[in-house]
Amino acid sequence: MSRAVVLGGGLAGMLAAAALARAVDEVTVVERDQLPTEPQPRKGLPQGHHSHILMRGGVEALDQLLPGVTDRLYAAGAKRRGLPSGALARGPEGWMERLDTDAYLLLCSRELLDHVVREQVLREERIGVREGTRVTGLVGDADRVTGVRIEQGGAERTLDADLVVDATGRATSAPKWLVDLGLPQVREDVVDAGIVYVSRWFTAPPGTRDDFPGVMIQMQAGTGRPGQGAGLLPMENGRWILSLFGSRGGEPPTDEEGFAQFARERHHPIIADLIAQARPAGPIRAYRSIPDQRRRFEKLPVPEGFLVIGDAAQALNPVHGTGMSVAAQCALALRTELDVRGLRPGFSRNVQAAIAKINQGAWQIAVNTDQGLPHVRANVPLRGGAFANKMAARVARTGCGNRMVINTVFNVASLCAPMTRMMTPAFLWAVLRGPRTPALTAEQAIAQFPEFGDLVKVDAAPRSTASPA
Ligand SMILES: Cc1cc2nc3c(=O)[nH]c(=O)nc-3n(C[C@H](O)[C@H](O)[C@H](O)COP(=O)(O)OP(=O)(O)OC[C@H]3O[C@@H](n4cnc5c(N)ncnc54)[C@H](O)[C@@H]3O)c2cc1C
Repeated sequence: MSRAVVLGGGLAGMLAAAALARAVDEVTVVERDQLPTEPQPRKGLPQGHHSHILMRGGVEALDQLLPGVTDRLYAAGAKRRGLPSGALARGPEGWMERLDTDAYLLLCSRELLDHVVREQVLREERIGVREGTRVTGLVGDADRVTGVRIEQGGAERTLDADLVVDATGRATSAPKWLVDLGLPQVREDVVDAGIVYVSRWFTAPPGTRDDFPGVMIQMQAGTGRPGQGAGLLPMENGRWILSLFGSRGGEPPTDEEGFAQFARERHHPIIADLIAQARPAGPIRAYRSIPDQRRRFEKLPVPEGFLVIGDAAQALNPVHGTGMSVAAQCALALRTELDVRGLRPGFSRNVQAAIAKINQGAWQIAVNTDQGLPHVRANVPLRGGAFANKMAARVARTGCGNRMVINTVFNVASLCAPMTRMMTPAFLWAVLRGPRTPALTAEQAIAQFPEFGDLVKVDAAPRSTASPA
């Protein structure tokens, strides 16, 4: 009988368990928290108090791993919003025309997402969870991991396993555990722009339409000033979440007045005006210290029977909104490797290499922007420079009103296409030609969204949303 142990019962851990259950007789998830039976916050998931968007690439991977899960999420109140057709968006270089693209977001609280995923995963009889149990180390040697050490209620014991998957998140102890087995220290790449998130939940005002679009103001890099942005997003149960974010030197404040003022100063007061009509539904919470961080386990002689997935392998600045989608795509890669080759020698290294490849795409997206933020601290060479910043700005400006350009950009950002799509002659030619329509004013951009209803008053006729070629 084969047995896998998954360390951590967050999103990556649950999805890895689902992937493993197709090929392994028994899967045990070890989680230090007691997992809630309803969509509720928990101690081990502090980021759950902040907005979490799931990109199209993640939605599709999730649905392949757990058929029907996104329908269950929508039935429980999750929203689907086209990018940028379903949300008022301001990119780094201006307000975007309401163009249809292939990209979309799934929006719901992190608690609901984890709850619906967990319920479906744990329906599988081969998967069990040990809650309130902390992983303290690995068992085995530098060639093969044969189990884990766990601690529950003060008692220590060992769990044997043919495969151990670490999904304990950004603060994983896997690098130390591997050193304890005799492996070298894993290389860790860090690009730290000093990002801080400050968020609050609101009850939407009476009369808010179910198709309320939300507002997304992206941060701008390469200006010499800190990057700052905001996202007001519709969630389940008539709630909104507002997340404000800023890089080093431009962090959002956490007091009531400063919070509202920071929102008001984001190019247009629309977000501040909207939350002034809503009722706060919780405290203002901050999340600090969120660098781009990847651990290069694929460069180690990873022992047989061990691999690392999710934030434990790579955790990024969340303004790019890719962490959960990457976790889903990596779990799918794990399942594919199991389907194709099974638990044979070399399995761990193959999967770790596949995970590194998926991580690389999201890493590039994040670092390309973050390296252009001021006072960035990094232990890897940063490319960027004036030319790269100019090109990025031109892409962003052209994308505001060009369907082909913005479709490509959002397909890459939502992890549905590789970055090389932004290198094709057609894309580069469109960017060289630059914007073909005048930039939208904030009022024109807002007027594209009658779904705001009476909550937003603007004095502008909507401009044509027809896209130039
Ligand atoms: C402020 C913020 C906003 C974000 N917004 C987005 C977004 O919009 N879109 C997006 O895709 N991603 C977003 N992310 C990233 C996203 O939260 C992560 O990518 C995702 O949670 C990774 O899942 P994971 O399962 O790898 O790790 P986690 O969700 O951190 O889960 C790790 C689990 O391991 C458990 N654990 C840890 N140590 C042990 C141990 N020793 N023993 C037993 N159990 C243990 C923890 O309790 C936890 O349950 C955001 C992150 C932050 C910080």
